[in-house]
Amino acid sequence: MADYDLVIIGGGPAGLTAGLYAARANMSAVLLEGKDVGGEILNTDLIEDYPGFASVTGAELAQKMAEHALKFGLKIKTYAPVKQIRVEGDRKVIELEDGTTHRAYAVIITVGGEPTKLGVPGEAEYHGRGVSYCAVCDGAFFKGSDLAVIGGGDSAFQEGLFLTRFAKKLHVVHRRGEFRAQAILRDRLLAKDLVHTVTPATVKEIGGDGTAVKWIDVERDGKVERIPVEGVFVFVGFKPVGGQLFADHIAHDENGYLITDQFMQTSIPGVYAAGDTRAQLAKQITTAVGDATTAVLHAERYIEELKDMERAFPQAPREVVAETASRMKILTFPPGAVVMRQGETSDRFYVIAKGEAIVVHREPDGSERTLNTLHAGDYFGEVGILTGHARNATVRAKTSLEVLALDADGLRSLMSSSQKTGDEVARVAKSRERIEDGAAD
Ligand code: NAP
Repeated sequence: MADYDLVIIGGGPAGLTAGLYAARANMSAVLLEGKDVGGEILNTDLIEDYPGFASVTGAELAQKMAEHALKFGLKIKTYAPVKQIRVEGDRKVIELEDGTTHRAYAVIITVGGEPTKLGVPGEAEYHGRGVSYCAVCDGAFFKGSDLAVIGGGDSAFQEGLFLTRFAKKLHVVHRRGEFRAQAILRDRLLAKDLVHTVTPATVKEIGGDGTAVKWIDVERDGKVERIPVEGVFVFVGFKPVGGQLFADHIAHDENGYLITDQFMQTSIPGVYAAGDTRAQLAKQITTAVGDATTAVLHAERYIEELKDMERAFPQAPREVVAETASRMKILTFPPGAVVMRQGETSDRFYVIAKGEAIVVHREPDGSERTLNTLHAGDYFGEVGILTGHARNATVRAKTSLEVLALDADGLRSLMSSSQKTGDEVARVAKSRERIEDGAAD
């Protein structure tokens, strides 16, 4: 079993971006890709909406992205398809199809999806023999042929444009009279003489001579028409596959897209999703790389928090620590700044991640008595939460200070997660109460 801090699954634009940032941050990370790096853009001919590249082929952009990540030392394993991911305590265990396993504190899922099928007779039978879901991969086999592209979205129009290089005639078959594709793609494709729209029409069957496609049957205005074609290129949407990798439940929407918060965190602590497999408005390369950047930067923080929490609560069950770490907020304070003040409501609990803090008690005469100096791994703020009273001491940053803050419910569930953890926090709180009351110093 190989151990990493972070495993990135998927080598498309999102995965390569996450990998680039992880490598630059010197994280212990690996990117696993089931095929070759590039992902969905390898199936795209020309990309004209990625800033800085007025026109670039999908293959070229994929190569540039991979080279960029490799330049910073990213470890990439290609042809390493992942079979399943399961949660074990605070780790994610990633089982590969070849039987090997990897383990990590955090995982970023960037596996995209697969094309939706029409689900009509003949589609499966002629897949690879005239039925295709990738014009860039298969278009050149159909030089001088009559072809049909099915769908009215960006993919149908973009891939349709590519097919106009080879087709004698291109039928655009769509179930509605309007196309949802971007205007620029629509105008370009529909302006071509060889393009013929068939709308509103639904494909009923794909047929042929047993070895290759020869026709499609479409229904239009209640009548079935047979259109002779040698190739059928289907672009009727996309099915995300990220959720299928999980043995445990992971939140997804009704179409299977993984639901995340604004940091790209899924419902499983330490599991992030970016790119086309995530529920979002736009499936663009630009959004995929943005999502991935957010995911990896947050994952880096999550991993640090988790390690800090494990140092502070060695007895707590690891899965509870992982859950708690994902709920905590990082707060930073300059030297001298007050983190919590005597007399205030007690609603937060803190663990020191970096730096030192001093605990002071204000006496009735207004003077201050220093009670303690706290270091990385120490915690504070539990006394007021457990007693239900206002803060009975002030904590101030002694050096630059980074703390992890947790709400009162989070502390209570951490304490109830194991007898030893609950007893230990209660013991510390009790001894501090006595000191702060002046009974023991
Ligand atoms: P899409 O936008 O969901 O379009 C799917 C098309 O297939 C729609 O026109 C839909 O019809 C039709 N359709 C769906 N189910 C069907 C069925 N069972 N039978 C017949 N037709 C059916 O999918 P997409 O074109 O693959 O694009 C996916 C995402 O990638 C989109 O967000 C898109 O913007 C993005 N993308 C962007 C670019 C680019 O920026 N250049 C290129 C490609 C893809 P209705 O219109 O009636 O629903």
